[in-house]
Amino acid sequence: MSDFYTPQLDPLHPTRHLAALDTPFGPRAVYDSVSFCNRCGSCQQACPTYLFTSQETFSPRGRNQLVRLITEGKLKLTGENRTLAEQALNTCLLCGRCTQACAGKIPTAEHMLELRRTLRSQPLPRLLFKLLSCRASHPHTFARLVRTGLWLRRIGLLRVARTCGLTHLPGLNWLNHADDILPAYPVRSDRDAWREALADHPTVPTLLYLPSLEAEFLMPSLALSVLHLARQKHRPFVLSNVSSGLFAYVYGDLRQSRRQLRRLILRHGAVQNGTLPLLTDSVDVYLFLRRAPQLFAPWPRWQKKARQFAKHVVFVTDFLPAKALSAGKSARVRLDSGALFAREGTPFDQARKILKTHFKKNFVECLYKDADVPAFGYNFVRGNLGEKICMSAVRSIARTQTGTVFTLSGLSALELSFYLKRFYPQAQADHLARLNG
Ligand code: SF4
Ligand code: SF4
Repeated sequence: MSDFYTPQLDPLHPTRHLAALDTPFGPRAVYDSVSFCNRCGSCQQACPTYLFTSQETFSPRGRNQLVRLITEGKLKLTGENRTLAEQALNTCLLCGRCTQACAGKIPTAEHMLELRRTLRSQPLPRLLFKLLSCRASHPHTFARLVRTGLWLRRIGLLRVARTCGLTHLPGLNWLNHADDILPAYPVRSDRDAWREALADHPTVPTLLYLPSLEAEFLMPSLALSVLHLARQKHRPFVLSNVSSGLFAYVYGDLRQSRRQLRRLILRHGAVQNGTLPLLTDSVDVYLFLRRAPQLFAPWPRWQKKARQFAKHVVFVTDFLPAKALSAGKSARVRLDSGALFAREGTPFDQARKILKTHFKKNFVECLYKDADVPAFGYNFVRGNLGEKICMSAVRSIARTQTGTVFTLSGLSALELSFYLKRFYPQAQADHLARLNG
């Protein structure tokens, strides 16, 4: 990066922001990065929110111009301007489709997060935000709260609250959505097997497994499938109920995210001098951790550590067998590429290759602009728009008569399963790690 002054989005609070974004063309300040947008519009048709609204403000080009005008001081964030900016940024799925379609690989999703940090905007309902933030600050309390919530749901308390209309109170609507998409209370055998896996500490581990929140608490069968795959070549140690920093990166504060990431880097470094691979089952976590160095640009010592750490992060596709083991390959399958920030590169290419090898002609190739489920709990933020986007994914699945849709994150599998059950029950969704059951 040049030493010349570049305008800042929020010059009074530099530590709330990334000093430089990691782009395929090297590190760039946010202003430089938005300035590279030449308004060509190649990204417009790839953006789900633009396709549904047909409004420039909800397109990648419009969003980039908004950030540029704010950074140049030509647009003051007051009154209507602020409302418009908040709408533009809170509707962005952070899906990275625009970056894939853009010749300059402009990271619009990262620009949106920077704007969110400037506005200090909190799109998640307050109670949900508090609950999820608790995972990093008080992991034991968090685990107890989630288990209690699932148990209360099992005994029907949520149904009663729904019938009484309590879930329509302001800030509680997300409970309906959570109740719709979350699986039933995990079965006893899975819970027991997972507890055993957590108690089994290998004396000399050869791999660290960082289960995602959904795999650990809602879908222990997914976490067990990942462990089963990892055990074929490794002795994995499970980092239970540990936050990667992604939640704070997207919904919270960058400083919290850095703190959590530092903790994870230190924890990784404490085992075998930080030489072990760190396995994750969520493509969102994978993409975030691989870009960990960009969070530490002003601190060279930490950036160096983060670079070392990022090299060791691996995704579960690395452990899937190249040869097909599953029977019953007559149904058509496809890959749901719903992810944060990116939709091309290693895990996506690997996943396509694996599915093509396993299912040959029955693998349905998707166009880059085919709809898929919004990632990382978007539906909790934007119920209506999220539902429209999910429905267009379901239509596209029905049009291609797909039988199984594989996702690269447990949460995407849960959301898609919910919509498929309601509108196209002939198809089902599952995480790719469960390819062989
Ligand atoms: S983000 Fe890229 S594709 Fe979209 S208008 Fe700007 S330069 Fe063109
Ligand atoms: S990240 Fe996704 S939703 Fe946001 S501007 Fe880009 S394509 Fe549109």
